[in-house]
Amino acid sequence: MERLSGDYYIYPGATERALRRYRGFLQPPGRRPLYPQDAECSCRGCSFDDVRHVRDVLEEVVRQLPARPRAELERQVRALDARYVERTLPDPFATHRQWRSDLWWRSRLAGGREAG
Ligand SMILES: [Zn+2]
Repeated sequence: MERLSGDYYIYPGATERALRRYRGFLQPPGRRPLYPQDAECSCRGCSFDDVRHVRDVLEEVVRQLPARPRAELERQVRALDARYVERTLPDPFATHRQWRSDLWWRSRLAGGREAG
C-alpha cells in the first residue's frame, strides 16, 4: 500500500516510522503537557518532526488500507490518540492559528520544546 500510494508523504516504511515517532512523542513520563512543534522543513523526511504531520500520515494510511490491516492499525493509532489527548492541551484559538484546525489533532496547543 505504501508503495502504491500516490501521496508524496507515504512511502515504504512511512507507517512504521510514523508509529515510532508518535510513540516517541508521547514517551516522556509524567503528566506535564506536551506541545507539538512545526517541522524545520517540509520534505517527506523532516516533516515527521511534526507529530501532527505524523498523525496526518497515519490517517491517510488508515484510509487507504484494506479492511483487515486497517482495523489493526486503527487499534494502535487509537491507543496513541488517547494518550495524545491526555498529554496535549486544547488550543482555544486553533481556528486562527493552526493549519487544518478542523482535524482534532491539529487543534492542540503547539510550540515550546517538545520534551518540556
Ligand atoms: Zn527536509
